[in-house]
Amino acid sequence: MSEAAATTQQPTRECGSCTLCCKLFPVLELDKPAGRWCPHVAQGRGCGIHETRPHVCRAFFCQWIWNEELGPEWKPETARFVLSIYPGSNALAVTVDPGQPAAWRREPYHRELRRWAEAALAQNSQVVVFVGDRATVVLPDRDVELGVLQPGDQISVGRLGAQWEARLVRAQRS
Ligand code: SF4
Ligand code: SF4
Repeated sequence: MSEAAATTQQPTRECGSCTLCCKLFPVLELDKPAGRWCPHVAQGRGCGIHETRPHVCRAFFCQWIWNEELGPEWKPETARFVLSIYPGSNALAVTVDPGQPAAWRREPYHRELRRWAEAALAQNSQVVVFVGDRATVVLPDRDVELGVLQPGDQISVGRLGAQWEARLVRAQRS
C-alpha cells in the first residue's frame, strides 16, 4: 500500500469509477476480509461512506494514482490487479483480483513486470504477485511460486549460475 498518511504529498490522479482496492484489501475496522467487496462500496462511484471511512482507506493510494507514467491499461479496474508498495518494505506488490487470478500474466503486464523485476533486483528489491494469500516472485527470467506468505517470512532472491532463484525463508515460530 502507498500510505499517504506519513507525507504531505497529494496524488494528482483520481480513482474515478475504480473501486478495486475496496475488494482486494482487508479493512480490520470494518471486519472486512481481503478478496471480498466492502459492503459500503458504491460500485462505479467510490465509497458509500466517504466522510466517515476508516483511516486505512483514507491513507491508501495505489501506484496508479501516484505514478502518471502508468498508462490507462494499468488502472486497477482495467488491469484487475492493484500495484502498491508492500508494507514495511520497498517491494512492489501486485495484488490480483481473485476473480481473475491470471490477469497479471496477460500482456503487456507480464512483460513489464519482468522488466520491473530486473530493475527492482538491482536495487535489492522485488516484485511479488499475490493471489489471495499465495505469493509468486517475478524474476527477470521466470516466476517462482512460493505458496502462502506468513507474517515475518522473508523472500530470498539470488543468482544460481546463469539463473535467478527465489525461496521463502520462514520466520522462527515458537
Ligand atoms: S485501486 Fe487505486 S485507483 Fe482503484 S480505487 Fe483503489 S486507490 Fe483508487
Ligand atoms: S469503507 Fe469505503 S473506501 Fe473503505 S473499503 Fe469500504 S468502500 Fe472502500
